[in-house]
Amino acid sequence: MNKQKPPKGIEWTRIKKSVDGQFVELPGYTWNPVGGCLHGCTWKMPDGSVTECYAKTIAERLASGGYKQGFAHHYWRPQALKEPLRLKTPAGIFVGSMSDLFGHWVSEDQIRQVMNVMRQADWHTFQTLSKYPVRLPDFNPFPSNVWVGVSLPAGHLMKPEGGARALMAYLRHMMLIQADIRFMSIEPLWFDVAPVFDAWLKTHDRLPFEWAIIGAASNGRKIFQPKPEWVSSLLDILDELHIPVFFKGNLKWQPRRELFPQPGVERVHELPAAERFVFTAALAG
Ligand code: SF4
Repeated sequence: MNKQKPPKGIEWTRIKKSVDGQFVELPGYTWNPVGGCLHGCTWKMPDGSVTECYAKTIAERLASGGYKQGFAHHYWRPQALKEPLRLKTPAGIFVGSMSDLFGHWVSEDQIRQVMNVMRQADWHTFQTLSKYPVRLPDFNPFPSNVWVGVSLPAGHLMKPEGGARALMAYLRHMMLIQADIRFMSIEPLWFDVAPVFDAWLKTHDRLPFEWAIIGAASNGRKIFQPKPEWVSSLLDILDELHIPVFFKGNLKWQPRRELFPQPGVERVHELPAAERFVFTAALAG
């Protein structure tokens, strides 16, 4: 596992949680029992350049150590499975920072082996993030110490209308996930997502997630900020629904927000009425 050391690293792995009325920051880690990814995400930047995902860039830099067959390949690392069990201090652990654990190419058996470790290491809080949400409900119900995330669809040179259609499909799949905390990573915010959420809310009481991460687009060192009206209309919707928001460090927006979902939030899963149930989210640790 790799420790995410401030100010670098993936900042939202360092979860702040309320313990006895005090906010405690957990150390953040990434854990990659699977590696490589076949999604091939790309985004077109406002200056016309095209960027790939950061994980591919890193994997190609590490080509001799761990990614010998390139990034678009599935690497299964059973030797890494026990790592969270050896770490006794509670931590926030992002699973699959260099892959998509729920990608269509990962076998169900491998996913279940990873899930079993997450279930056993119940003193940690795990965060998964997928661009293949159709598969997530197959693993219901998720242990309460696993936060189940879905990323905004990648650009793939699509027009914003294509992104909006894909996002609506993602929301339908997210609605079926049974997890205490579901989250959406809206990074990069490459099109105006607020109209999609507004359209969803015409027929649903709430969005199918309990936490949102918002970030800007980047190509190497060049950062491209989303249009301010996209951010403000998105925040209006999330605030109205009391969904906590975490800003990635590359998003220029004031005042800053680095909020995390907290235990003890009562909510209703938006499953079809017959399967609807109410429960209190109780996070591990
Ligand atoms: S899903 Fe994630 S890891 Fe895979 S190509 Fe897309 S951004 Fe990269």
